[in-house]
Amino acid sequence: MCRRGGGCYHTGLYSAFKLTPDGIFLSPTIVPRAEHGISRANISENALKVLYRLKNASFAAFIVGGGVRDLLLGQHPKDFDVVTDAHPEQIKQLFRNARLIGRRFRLAHVRFGRDIVEVATFRAAANEDAEGAADDRAHSQSGRILRDNVYGTIEEDIWRRDFTVNALYYNIADFSVWDFTTGFEDIRTRTLRLIGDPERRYREDPVRMLRAIRFAAKLGFSIAPDTAEPILELGAHLRDVPAARLFEEVLKLFQSGYGVRSFELLEQYALFGYLFPSTAAVLAGEHGAQARSLIRAGLANTDRRVAEDQPVTPMFLYAVLVWPAIKALAEQLLPQMGGNENEAMDEACHRIVGEQVARTSLPKRFSAPMREMLMLQRRFEQRQGSRGARMLEHKRFRAAYDFLLLRASCGEAPQELADWWTEVQGLTPGEQRDSFGPSDEQRPRRRRRRRRPRRNAVG
Ligand code: ATP
Ligand code: MG
Repeated sequence: MCRRGGGCYHTGLYSAFKLTPDGIFLSPTIVPRAEHGISRANISENALKVLYRLKNASFAAFIVGGGVRDLLLGQHPKDFDVVTDAHPEQIKQLFRNARLIGRRFRLAHVRFGRDIVEVATFRAAANEDAEGAADDRAHSQSGRILRDNVYGTIEEDIWRRDFTVNALYYNIADFSVWDFTTGFEDIRTRTLRLIGDPERRYREDPVRMLRAIRFAAKLGFSIAPDTAEPILELGAHLRDVPAARLFEEVLKLFQSGYGVRSFELLEQYALFGYLFPSTAAVLAGEHGAQARSLIRAGLANTDRRVAEDQPVTPMFLYAVLVWPAIKALAEQLLPQMGGNENEAMDEACHRIVGEQVARTSLPKRFSAPMREMLMLQRRFEQRQGSRGARMLEHKRFRAAYDFLLLRASCGEAPQELADWWTEVQGLTPGEQRDSFGPSDEQRPRRRRRRRRPRRNAVG
């Protein structure tokens, strides 16, 4: 099944080698099976099923993206993304278990129990010079792609990729890897290089700046100078990205096991402030060092949990990332609130969380318990009486206590306080009552006696 352009997906025969000004070869370098280390044994069974069924129906079928990249690096890919020249409707006909999704890009999800293999049709080029594509594509004024539903060839599909190492195509027809850019070489030298003109690619999709940071952190790659340089100037374009999409990116940046490194790089490339503006302001101020040490300790904790396959939650992650801003604002609001620390904290929580949700989103199911957990921080200081005892019963106690330990570990809360709460949890109920001091019965009775005359006066 040979196609226009002189290339053939099945034989890999190409008629011409041409280099475009953007550094794209119109014909790929085809690396045969014997010359690369990708073995089918390391590709998921379900992805192989999808690839073979497409191939047997005479369609082109490739794995692209992180799957190929990570296999070449000897790592375990998270998932395998399949690309093909079959159109979504054709994919749906081939797979009973396929569902078409997406409005911006139509994709097929082929489901095998809980596992999903994503199958995309080759897309037409994103650059405006691409032939015949301009009418079907919408760009915002800043150059951001808003809508795109044009199918194309594998050569054009390259433009749907960000970095050269993410644009390597593994062909199921003969197990070769197709490289239209410098992907193979960049894997070897561990370099992250954007395909095409970096400034233009960042304007098209500012999230690529965050992806550069994420992959640099995760893979330990260096960012090529041309790819790195525009980031410092273009960060503000992240303001145009919908909050829900930034939420997804924040989770990928900080909950994939490389959070500390991602944070360092985000600061280095001046991007952190576009994600967490108020926290970035604190980091730049006089209490910056302490805030930074809390964030680093929190992220290191998350990285360790990911490495140990323990669950992580956006509630705790966001708590770590917004706490310095909440604390700073609470201090600032204190005089206005007549010195009432609780009210100042409540108001600061409300404002900072609201601002953060507008910027990077945080679903209510995370933000509500996060606020509760942060509001409990002050209550740890009240160790006496029933309030102290009730803390242990609070449904956010565990999370709040973990957060207290984190604060103590970087000197933001007294270690003695954290130790006290650690110890009290190990005591019997009787011993706990003694530790909390005056019992439940004594205090309320005194209060009740004071209130009764007032109620009588009214009635
Ligand atoms: P991982 O899944 O390990 O995080 P990945 O490279 O597979 O990394 P995905 O987000 O799963 O990343 O995307 C799959 C592929 O789609 C990428 O490798 C890249 O080729 C392409 N891609 C994804 N997002 C973008 C984007 N914003 N701009 C350009 N290409 C993209
Ligand atoms: Mg992926």
